[in-house]
Amino acid sequence: MSIWIVGDVLTPTSHLCPGYIRVEGEHIVSVGAGEPPHDAANRIDARRGLIVPGFVDLHIHGAGGSDLMSGSDDVRAVSRFLPRTGCTAFLPTTITAPWPDTLGAIAAIAKVCQDPDPAGAQPIGIHLEGPFLSHRWPGMAVADWIRPPDFEGVRALRAAAGSWLRSVTLAPEVPGALAVIEELCRSGVLVSVAHSDASYDAMCAAAEAGARHLTHAFNAMRGLHHREPGTIGGALDLPSFSVEVIADGVHVHPAILRLLWRIKGWRCMALVTDAMPAAGAREGVYAFGGQEVVVHGGSARLADGRLAGSVLRMDRAVAVAVAAGIPLSEAVGMASLTPAMIAGLTDRGQLAPGFRADLVMLDTDLRVVWTMVGGRLVWPSVNG
Ligand SMILES: [Zn+2]
Repeated sequence: MSIWIVGDVLTPTSHLCPGYIRVEGEHIVSVGAGEPPHDAANRIDARRGLIVPGFVDLHIHGAGGSDLMSGSDDVRAVSRFLPRTGCTAFLPTTITAPWPDTLGAIAAIAKVCQDPDPAGAQPIGIHLEGPFLSHRWPGMAVADWIRPPDFEGVRALRAAAGSWLRSVTLAPEVPGALAVIEELCRSGVLVSVAHSDASYDAMCAAAEAGARHLTHAFNAMRGLHHREPGTIGGALDLPSFSVEVIADGVHVHPAILRLLWRIKGWRCMALVTDAMPAAGAREGVYAFGGQEVVVHGGSARLADGRLAGSVLRMDRAVAVAVAAGIPLSEAVGMASLTPAMIAGLTDRGQLAPGFRADLVMLDTDLRVVWTMVGGRLVWPSVNG
């Protein structure tokens, strides 16, 4: 049976006001301007808000008090939490941890990818943030947990992930990294750069080897200098590179958000959360990544003040981008179509026939009213 959703519809190319979307099963079958046919039963009235594609988060470590490093129940809990933030698909992201913990977390995430919760956001694979990082830019990783890039390590990570390894964040300038980048790219894994001291030349070599994305732009990487453009300068200049940004108002200044958007354009710039378990949960002291993290005033920090992920939600990231001056349609694209394309997912991120019916209704303050995943209303849930 069809579901007809009636209201303002934001497609990639137009704003249908009013418009409608017809959903059948898991997919969108038609999108039109004006009112739906008179005999269209089973309507959802969304005329007091805006219907946008479900958000896709390429970088998330936890939310709602659950930690993606700690096993399959937590992965399911995060999946069920995310629809209230408008997120309908996510790339569970590991942190750099002791090696057996990393392999265990990967196996647990892979199990949920294989058998996702139909009432939650869909895990679309695994993103490994490390362990092949620079000792100069470890973020919150402990030095002993960082590993030189090696094929044996890649083999073990792959074995734990099964077919679900989708993305690896690494430092391309570390000896051995270029061969590992080539090997990962050959098997279709997205190689992304961060926690890196790469010079401009090292970024060119990384691009040549197949790296094509920059993790949390400007954070944990060599900065911009006019005579040595560094890691960030390389990613900004190389046309093959897309970037992701943590738009929480803490990790980058609004002016940097605008600069990134002007340089890369919305089609090469994804909004991500890099959320840690306290996102959407109470402020306080959390155990995260084997360390104590203080969550207060919209940021998560280690005792020495270093940032330890964020407490951002995807709906809030869109609002922050809009407040920085980015047009709403492009901010929505940066949270949906662009990350889907970067991850190689061609079945979501757009309100168009044939696409998955992953939809969100936002109110005029860009807050989530309801979320549909694969044609099924999952938030607010029947049980609240
Ligand atoms: Zn992260």
